[in-house]
Amino acid sequence: MTWEERWHPLREEWVVIAAHRQDRPWVGDTVSHDVTALPEYVSDCYLCPGNTRVSGRSNPKYDQIFVFDNDHPSVDVDAPENQRPLADIYKARPARGLSRVVCYSPKHNLTLAELEPEAIENLMGVWQEQYTHLGSLDGIEHVLIFENKGEAVGVSNPHPHCQIYANNFVFKTIENEARISRDFFTKNKRSIFQDIIQAEKSDGRRIIVENDSAIAFLPYFARYAYEVFVAPKETHPSLAAMSKTEISDLSFVLKEVLVKFDNLWQMPFPYVMPLHQAPTDGGDHSGFHFHIEFHPPLRKPNLLKYLAGPEIGGGNFLSDTSPEEKAAELQAVSNVHYKVEGKN
Ligand SMILES: [Zn+2]
Ligand SMILES: [Zn+2]
Repeated sequence: MTWEERWHPLREEWVVIAAHRQDRPWVGDTVSHDVTALPEYVSDCYLCPGNTRVSGRSNPKYDQIFVFDNDHPSVDVDAPENQRPLADIYKARPARGLSRVVCYSPKHNLTLAELEPEAIENLMGVWQEQYTHLGSLDGIEHVLIFENKGEAVGVSNPHPHCQIYANNFVFKTIENEARISRDFFTKNKRSIFQDIIQAEKSDGRRIIVENDSAIAFLPYFARYAYEVFVAPKETHPSLAAMSKTEISDLSFVLKEVLVKFDNLWQMPFPYVMPLHQAPTDGGDHSGFHFHIEFHPPLRKPNLLKYLAGPEIGGGNFLSDTSPEEKAAELQAVSNVHYKVEGKN
């Protein structure tokens, strides 16, 4: 039984771990998962090669990775100027920025977990280019790359893809991490994330995968049952600063985490996966340690973690599971994808 509050050093907030509550009686909704096999190509998928999107533009017959500007951007270079005068307490400005979609593969039925490690390396190359290019544009203060996967997080199209938001502001979580990292770095001359890696390594119970230069762990302060951080061991403000060897090591660790997620319940595992990279606002971010975070919404095969009173109302997470137990589950499952295993 774990029943305590744990400090989240990158958010500077408490997480309540009440792991004796997981098996409390439950009569609410469950999330079903579709196990029917998908085809490689779907004629009305707006991401499949050669298809026409709602904007009327057609996708090329791409054979690897395909990047395009989002047809329904939340921010745009052409966002209108605001006209109406506002009360002093309110402020508004044009929603300026760029929003892109990155298709990982022409195959509709693949997931990131099923891509070959080399294909994941190529994808990281594209992420590096996009971050560097978009981040260098005038007025772009931050580039957020993220994948939403699964109906549990509102994604109905399974075609493997992620999104990029390049904005004229820094998203709040990154702004906080950047400030916390900078203050720690100024005071201690090292990255705060190095202390987290050290703490995870010396405890050892929550490490999921590790190689020479990359590591994945379910952090001590996890807010979600299967929250996992994937990171290079050296401090780099972004993917763009990493060497080829480091990218290759990171791809390997990322792939293994993804495979373990899918193997957990033999289903495509839903998640929100943001890349936390330093702002591109011209500030000094040498203490910022690039990492990938997984926020999976499920805590059991068919059971969502609902955000309610404590999370939405109060702003702190209440977790019903023990990070050590959930890490042990992930450690125990195979690192060979169940679909591949099934074929042997
Ligand atoms: Zn498709
Ligand atoms: Zn982070």
